[in-house]
Amino acid sequence: MKIKFAGAARTVTGSCYILEVGGHRFAIDCGMYQGNDEIENRNWDMDIYDPKHIEFIVITHAHIDHSGLLPRMVQKGFRGPIYTTPPTKELLKIMLLDSAHIQEVEALWKTKRRLRHGDEKTEPLYTQADAEKTYPLIKTFTYNEVFEPFPDLKVNFLDAGHILGASHIELWVNDQGRTSKLVFSGDVGRPDQLLVSNPSVISEADFLFVESTYGDRDHKDDKESLDELAEAIAYSYQRGEKVIIPSFAVQRTQEMIYSLHLLSLAGRLPPDLPVIVDSPLAIRATEVFRRCQEYLDEETHVKIKNGEDPLKLPQMRFTLSTQESMAINLTAGPAVIISASGMANAGRIKHHLRHNLWRSGASIVFVGFQAQGTTGRKIIDGAEKVRIFNEDIAVKAKVFTINGFSAHAGQTQLLDWIGHFKNQAMQIFLIHGEYEAQQILAGLIEKRFGFKVHIPDYLEESVLVPGEAAKYVEFPEKASPRIDWNYLLSDAELKMTALRGRISQIESKPWVEQTDLRDRLIEVNRHLLEIISQT
Ligand SMILES: [Zn+2]
Ligand SMILES: [Zn+2]
Repeated sequence: MKIKFAGAARTVTGSCYILEVGGHRFAIDCGMYQGNDEIENRNWDMDIYDPKHIEFIVITHAHIDHSGLLPRMVQKGFRGPIYTTPPTKELLKIMLLDSAHIQEVEALWKTKRRLRHGDEKTEPLYTQADAEKTYPLIKTFTYNEVFEPFPDLKVNFLDAGHILGASHIELWVNDQGRTSKLVFSGDVGRPDQLLVSNPSVISEADFLFVESTYGDRDHKDDKESLDELAEAIAYSYQRGEKVIIPSFAVQRTQEMIYSLHLLSLAGRLPPDLPVIVDSPLAIRATEVFRRCQEYLDEETHVKIKNGEDPLKLPQMRFTLSTQESMAINLTAGPAVIISASGMANAGRIKHHLRHNLWRSGASIVFVGFQAQGTTGRKIIDGAEKVRIFNEDIAVKAKVFTINGFSAHAGQTQLLDWIGHFKNQAMQIFLIHGEYEAQQILAGLIEKRFGFKVHIPDYLEESVLVPGEAAKYVEFPEKASPRIDWNYLLSDAELKMTALRGRISQIESKPWVEQTDLRDRLIEVNRHLLEIISQT
C-alpha cells in the first residue's frame, strides 16, 4: 500500500491524499490550494493527480480546501464515484458552483488586464458547467454505514464535529491478505461548538493521518469570544461605523448568526443595529442547515423543539444581488456586515474592506483561520497597508481576532483526541498544518504518548506496512523548486551598478520623464524595504 501526499502537506490548504493498493488507486479529499500565487499555481498542475486513473474519491467535508478541485478533476477526465455524507453533498452543490463562479470572475478580470498588456486571455480553473457535471457522481452514506468501494476496502464515516456533515474516515484495507486500518481525521472539530456535535472518539488504527492546524496553540473559550464580539460591536456602534466580519459562508456564518442571536437574547446587540449577511452562498447554506437538522447537535435540537430559531434575528437581512451589496457602503451609519470569503482574499468582503479598513471607528473581526499569504493574514499580522483591487488601503480600523469561534480543535483538544488511540505501534502522519505548528505538536505527541510521528512534505510518497516504519520516497525538486537567492541578489546588484553608470544620461532627460523614473525607483526601494523588514 502506498500513499502520496498531494496536498495539505506542511501547509493547510489543498487537502488530497492518493492511495494505491492492490491495483486500485483512489483519493481522500480533493481540496483547492488557497494562499499566494506560488501556492495557488499548484491547482493547475493536474499531472500530479492523474485524474483519469483515480477510481473514486472520498470527501471528508465540504470546505473548499478539501473539495474545491473536484470540478477540475472532472474537467480533466475523472469519472468515478465521489463518496461523502448527505449534508456534505448538499453543501457541495452550492459551494462548488460558487467556487466555479469565483474562478470565472477572476479569469475575466485577469483576461481584461492581460489583453491590455497585449497578452493572451486566461481560462478559469474550472467553470460552473464543470461543477454541474460533478454532482451526479456524488454518492452518499451516513455516519456508521460501512460501505465497500471494492472488495478489499471498507470505509466508514464518523461525525468529526467540525462543520455540518464533516467526517473522520475509517478505512480497513486488505493488502495481500493482511488487513490494516487507516484513519483520516479530516478536520477535527472543536468540542462544544454551536450547531454541531463533538468529534467522535476513535481508539484503533495502524496509521493515523491527523490534521494539525492549531498544533501550536489553544483557543480562548467561547464565553470570551462572545464578549469580544460584543466589544467589537459596541466599539463601532458608538462611533457610528461598521463591523466587518469576514466569514466562511458555510458553518461560520450560521454560527455568527447564532452568536448574535445569543447576544440579542442577553440584550447586548442594539436592536436598531442592522445585521447584513452579504453572501448569496451563506443564504443558501443557511437553508441547507435547516434541511439537514438531524445532523445538528442535541442542544440545537432542543432549542428548535422549544420554538426558538437560533438562525434568525429581527434586524437581520440578506443581500442577494450585487446592487444590494454595493448599496450597503453607500449608507452611512453603523451595521454588522458578515461576508465571504473568510480569509478576505476573494468575494464581496474585498469591497467591504476597501470601504471600511481605512476608517478608524470601524472594526474588522476575524473569526477563522487565516492562511499564510492571504489578505486576512496580512491584516492580523499588523500590516499598515494591504493591497485590495490594485490599491494600497490603510489599516486604521480596529482589528479583532477571535479564534474561540474556530471549527478546529485547539492544541489541547487535538492531543485529547489523539490520546484515545491505543495501539502503541500506530504511526502518525501530521497533515493540514503549517510546518512550525506541526513540529511543536509532533514533539508533544511523542513525549506524551510515545507514538511515532512523521511530517510528510508535499508530493512525498510513503509505503505503508503495519508495524513497520514507513518508507519514504521524496520528490523535493518539484515539491519546492529551489529559489536561488544569491543569483537574484547578484542580478539586482548588477542592475543597480548599471543604473549608477547612467546617471548623466538620466539627468539629461526632460524633468517630467525623470520624475517618472524616480517614482519607479522609489517603488523598487519600497519593495526592497518590505522584503528586508520581513526577514
Ligand atoms: Zn474544514
Ligand atoms: Zn481544512
